[in-house]
Amino acid sequence: MTIRAHMMDQPLMISDILRHAANCHGETQIITRLPENGEIHRQGYFQTHERTKQLANALKKKLKIKSGERVSTIAWNSHRHFELYYGISGMGAVIHTVNPRLDPKQLIWMLEHAGSKAVFFDKTFAPLIDGIAKHCKGVKNWILMSDKSHLDCVSTKCLSYEELIADYPAEFDWPVFDENAAAGLCYTSGTTGDPKGVLYSHRSNILHAMACNSADVIGVGSRGVMLPVVPMFHVNAWGIPYACPMSGATLVMPGAQMDGPSIHELLESENVTYVAGVPTVWLGLLEYLQKNNKRIDSVQRVLIGGSALPEALLRAYEDEYGVEMQQGWGMTEMSPLGTVNVPLPKHDDLSREEIIKIKLKQGRLVYGVGMRIVDDEGNELPWDGASSGHVQVRGPWVSSGYFRGAGADSFTKDGWFQTGDVAHLDGDGYMTITDRSKDVIKTGGEWISSIDLENAAMGHPSVAMAAVVGRPHPKWQERPLMVIQLREGFEPDPNSILEYLSGQVPKWWLPDGIEFIDEMPIGATGKILKTKLREIYADYVFPDVDA
Ligand code: AMP
Repeated sequence: MTIRAHMMDQPLMISDILRHAANCHGETQIITRLPENGEIHRQGYFQTHERTKQLANALKKKLKIKSGERVSTIAWNSHRHFELYYGISGMGAVIHTVNPRLDPKQLIWMLEHAGSKAVFFDKTFAPLIDGIAKHCKGVKNWILMSDKSHLDCVSTKCLSYEELIADYPAEFDWPVFDENAAAGLCYTSGTTGDPKGVLYSHRSNILHAMACNSADVIGVGSRGVMLPVVPMFHVNAWGIPYACPMSGATLVMPGAQMDGPSIHELLESENVTYVAGVPTVWLGLLEYLQKNNKRIDSVQRVLIGGSALPEALLRAYEDEYGVEMQQGWGMTEMSPLGTVNVPLPKHDDLSREEIIKIKLKQGRLVYGVGMRIVDDEGNELPWDGASSGHVQVRGPWVSSGYFRGAGADSFTKDGWFQTGDVAHLDGDGYMTITDRSKDVIKTGGEWISSIDLENAAMGHPSVAMAAVVGRPHPKWQERPLMVIQLREGFEPDPNSILEYLSGQVPKWWLPDGIEFIDEMPIGATGKILKTKLREIYADYVFPDVDA
């Protein structure tokens, strides 16, 4: 029989992270390239805490936000977005981070589905807000994340962030409540159908941040200077806005400017030691460094995830620039971290080529995440580094369901989340992704739904059947290839199909290649066999790549 211990049952509260940073790392800075004018802004964690308390007062008293209500952000990485992370969750409400790259129709749907009461947005998104505001009936307040001198950029009736908080004192008693209460909401469109909301709790975000701070995970530490290029609207910027103040690391926020020269300037001027983001960003920076003969000597490590780490990128940064490339894997439903790649002591004597093979794996399981690999019938497969199967996960920062009950079929009866990735595990816990069972394409870190593209194409008079598969692309990791079986009597006309799709899907969804097939491969259940299509077009090269 167990006996009850005497440890305090103190709930894990997000507000405690910032309180700790203010007390113990008060002068450590958050440096922001302001989204509204590109200027550099600096403030310490102490001042950030003071401003966040002003914000919490304003949310409660001026905007009348109550516990559990959702407040949305459409914003870049900045000190104000950081304050919103803490102010909204800290006072008991839920921060809903919105991906501005989504189609406006989907944005409206999402804000309504989330039940958002207020939206904070950066100046860059003023035209977007003017387009959607009248359709978002539930949103009571729109707040421009700047001072009032920029308010003329938007026609929608708005408050400015600085005016909003200026009226309130920096005294606020952070409430203590159930650590399992929702703190954040982030929608994933990484599957088919409507996006699904993942609700993070105070507990899950804190446990995830503590895991991030371990030496073999992110482990930035108080001497580290972290620049998250990964946006704060993508899975809490991989937990970095929680992990850095917890460990006292300096944060450098790039605002709206993610291009090679702007990122390079910040890396140099702020002596950044650690950066995190998707491969496309590092490809852009690499091109800039090589063309302009620039260096990034302060940078020690790059955490790269969201898509597989390309071998050429790994070699270029490690061999030419002396930067350690560290691959991570995870997903919105996992807060996101599941695996991070760190070579083990036993690999010290391996040759460079052998080490590269290890570094190209998605990484080793982070403590806290349970994983199993199963076959089509649900039988568990051995960790032998060869048996590929469906990846299922569970753990205290893995979602157990979606907001408003969507997507129940993503979870097994015995409580595991089905990731939609196919992989094998080896005896050291290194996972290698070999395929994806979900029907989506990930391009430059963003999702394209194959099914939405196919449905759009099906309306074209010449199309009998349309199927979209992702094919490798050197810049975007993956781009859509559309395969079409024509109706009888029609001639192939890719331009007419592209033109037809243009009005229906975002521009960046348009397929980079359209191929025509005499007979679509169809499986026993009448579905198009995407696996067969991937085989047929295994060596396909997109026209722009050829050029
Ligand atoms: P998201 O929920 O948008 O963060 O996307 C998560 C998905 O991105 C995963 O399920 C994988 O399919 C893919 N992904 C993330 N990291 C990697 C990686 N290192 N290698 C390959 N695929 C990845």
